[in-house]
Amino acid sequence: PPAPATAVRDAFLSFFRDRHGHRLVPSASVRPRGDPSLLFVNAGMNQFKPIFLGTVDPRSEMAGFRRVANSQKCVRAGGRHSDLEDVGRDLSHHTFFEMLGNWAFGGEYFKEEACSMAWELLTQVYGIPEDRLWVSYFGGDPKAGLGPDLESRDIWLNLGVPASRVLSFGPQENFWEMGDTGPCGPCTEIHYDLAGGVGAPQLVELWNLVFMQHNREADGSLQPLPQWHVDTGMGLERLVAVLQGKHSTYDTDLFSPLLNAIHQGCGAPPYLGRVGAADEGRTDTAYRVVADHIRTLSICIADGVSPGMSGAPLVLRRILRRAVRFSTEVLQAPPGFLGSLVPVVVETLGDAYPELRKNSAQIANLVSEDEAAFLASLQRGRRIIERTLRRLGPSDVFPAEVAWSLSLSGNLGLPLDLVELMLEEKGVQLDSAGLARLAKEEAQRRAQQAEPVHEQELRLDVHALGELQRRGVPPTDDSPKYSYSL
Ligand code: ATP
Ligand code: MG
Ligand code: MG
Ligand code: MG
Repeated sequence: PPAPATAVRDAFLSFFRDRHGHRLVPSASVRPRGDPSLLFVNAGMNQFKPIFLGTVDPRSEMAGFRRVANSQKCVRAGGRHSDLEDVGRDLSHHTFFEMLGNWAFGGEYFKEEACSMAWELLTQVYGIPEDRLWVSYFGGDPKAGLGPDLESRDIWLNLGVPASRVLSFGPQENFWEMGDTGPCGPCTEIHYDLAGGVGAPQLVELWNLVFMQHNREADGSLQPLPQWHVDTGMGLERLVAVLQGKHSTYDTDLFSPLLNAIHQGCGAPPYLGRVGAADEGRTDTAYRVVADHIRTLSICIADGVSPGMSGAPLVLRRILRRAVRFSTEVLQAPPGFLGSLVPVVVETLGDAYPELRKNSAQIANLVSEDEAAFLASLQRGRRIIERTLRRLGPSDVFPAEVAWSLSLSGNLGLPLDLVELMLEEKGVQLDSAGLARLAKEEAQRRAQQAEPVHEQELRLDVHALGELQRRGVPPTDDSPKYSYSL
């Protein structure tokens, strides 16, 4: 029988500890410590940034780190690497995922050892057939004065990967950066072919091995790091899907308990795993969004980031509201449903991350409270719209001030795109010029108070919802990004 996710995670950690002398370190909190360049921890390497930059306190425990490995809680929602818009639409991107990683600091080992350890783990320990694996390496970036990483290419060839499955890509794919600033370097990646030799390869990225050599400065320039390091990251959910013979991370034991609980709690039709245009009523998309988002909410709240008004808390609030809309409007969830999923998340992840179990009741309460507040705001918003419409003439536009008062920045806290949609449903035109003016004033006000809010964070992605469908507009064929063909 295929290994459960817990065994896959454990096998990774013991491989690096027992076979290759790595020290295991716990996952850091998803709340970045003293790093304003990040909204959430987005990679395993974040907590080691001081080592890369050479600024680690020599008296700290970290100063002694040479070879370490861990499983890091990561959130990619907002900021560089944000995957929020893709979640639900594809079968491989989550807002919360676990990144398995190993590191070699200060030249403890470099490209050759890193690649051969990764290859050994995937093919010998996990038993993935070699002919299903493809690799990529950095093809160089002439504009930045960086040459191709032929060393990595040769290492893969020497490990026996045929040249036809060793591909080079530019900086977009094979030069990894933590954020707009911070440590970065060329990377080499391992991809898995879902098609298995039948027809064109269908590749999904599994593991990224980064060779940290530079720091991206605020002015955009690259500065050499004082020492070179290995930094790798592999998505546990994708690895588990491969090892459990699935094409989707949602079909693994990390997600199926959640999908089952959603099915039972909402009375929606069962989850069938359809994507894009095939998912007509957006039911399967909604299942994925809700399952993904409740994991993220649980993990973040356990780490002390609760839904709120700006920065990471605002992103979390948006995630919660997105989950509420998908669950209530597409899956017909009863009020309070979202909070009832928290124990299922705790059941699947609580052993690996005990802070979940410890805060379980508090997480469920917070989720339920915010859900109730949002549903109440929605109702009040609808009433205000009705009342305003009654005093409008047939050719009047909807006043921008009222729309604004309903929005996130106004009193009711409804995302602006949701307000727009509610008006559209009533067939009334909004004074968009007036609204744009108000939004601009608000942006200026926030800039003065140094309160950054990204426009992207204010939107709820309503187009992914079922409304367009219900109004007879066919969904765009956003084909899943889970895999790509060459
Ligand atoms: P992709 O190209 O699929 O978006 P990435 O190149 O952005 O992935 P990396 O930054 O290289 O990802 O992160 C290392 C690994 O983490 C990836 O190889 C993948 O296995 C996993 N991973 C990245 N983003 C996600 C996500 N949103 N959900 C689940 N796993 C992810
Ligand atoms: Mg990505
Ligand atoms: Mg990638
Ligand atoms: Mg990558």
